[in-house]
Amino acid sequence: MRLLSSKLTYCFLSLLLGVNRPLIAQVDVSHMVVPADWLRKHVFMLASDSLQGRETGTIGQQQASIYCARSFRQSHLLAAFRIDSVQGSFRQTFAFTTTEVTLYGGVRMNGKPTYKRHELAPLPVTARDSSHVSLSHNVGGLLMGTDLKQEVVVLSAHYDHLGKVGKRIYHGADDNASGTATILSVASVFDSLARQGVRPRRSILFLLFSGEEGGLLGSQYFVANSPIPLHQLICDLNVDMVGRADDYHSKKPNYCYLITGSQMNGLASLASRANDQSVHLALNDGGYDTDSDPKQYFYRSDHYNFVKVGIPALFFSDGEHSDYHQPSDTADKIDYELLQKRATLVFQTAWLVANEEAK
Ligand SMILES: [Zn+2]
Repeated sequence: MRLLSSKLTYCFLSLLLGVNRPLIAQVDVSHMVVPADWLRKHVFMLASDSLQGRETGTIGQQQASIYCARSFRQSHLLAAFRIDSVQGSFRQTFAFTTTEVTLYGGVRMNGKPTYKRHELAPLPVTARDSSHVSLSHNVGGLLMGTDLKQEVVVLSAHYDHLGKVGKRIYHGADDNASGTATILSVASVFDSLARQGVRPRRSILFLLFSGEEGGLLGSQYFVANSPIPLHQLICDLNVDMVGRADDYHSKKPNYCYLITGSQMNGLASLASRANDQSVHLALNDGGYDTDSDPKQYFYRSDHYNFVKVGIPALFFSDGEHSDYHQPSDTADKIDYELLQKRATLVFQTAWLVANEEAK
């Protein structure tokens, strides 16, 4: 999740259309859970020293994007992006510039904490263009649905984090290796169902963004350059920080915030139904499901870029804790039993959304 720091300021699917019968939408998957060992493997990899904190535009972030793309490929997803009319890609490249600013939006001054704010820039054409910008990547894979496959449910998380300062690596295990691991693992669960002939009615687009920490850049670029027309994206289920408990819940960690802002949409009630028939977490215990909350969580992760173009969103999060945006946000501190429950809630919610009668 990004800091609360400054003012927040050719149809690919149609090529794949064919005749499908509405397979098995009534299948009961409420017993299915996301395996904890899959989640653990992904979190330890993404938050490892070798990826150097996955800062947008660095080699560590690029290596993380390759790791995620490989996982999507192993889950038999279709590449979501196009290189040309023939070749697909699991990665979408965007360009950006970087400015160092204070936490309060001003210019850098001695002694004040700073962070890097990124802004999208045109993709470089010439070598001279390249010297002014850095490149980064979103990662995306598509699972085709059946009779309603033109309608697409987005499942998203950001995989970038803060990189390192000097020799101190900001590992970002909860923020947001936990959400990335959730998306990768949920994709694998859908794949295991698909290989048994069980597919959701609607298609599911699994998206992993970079550029989140510096200004929700990857999702901003995606929404402006989606390979699927936006009117086909029926919602975004976004996952950002789901492996820990905040201070309010330190003694009762079986909870999850489901944040919708002031949008009136049916996603929260579907998630509540999914929760009732599976993991039984306390939902929004302690508040936060409002856009007037001082923490302003609704505006602080990638779902907000979908909301801005009229796509309903639901945001799964654990809030903030003492290791938030600290080098101490490490993989050994993740509660994997808790992460498994929240990832299972994401899967169960996605299944219901993808199979509901009316969108
Ligand atoms: Zn963050």
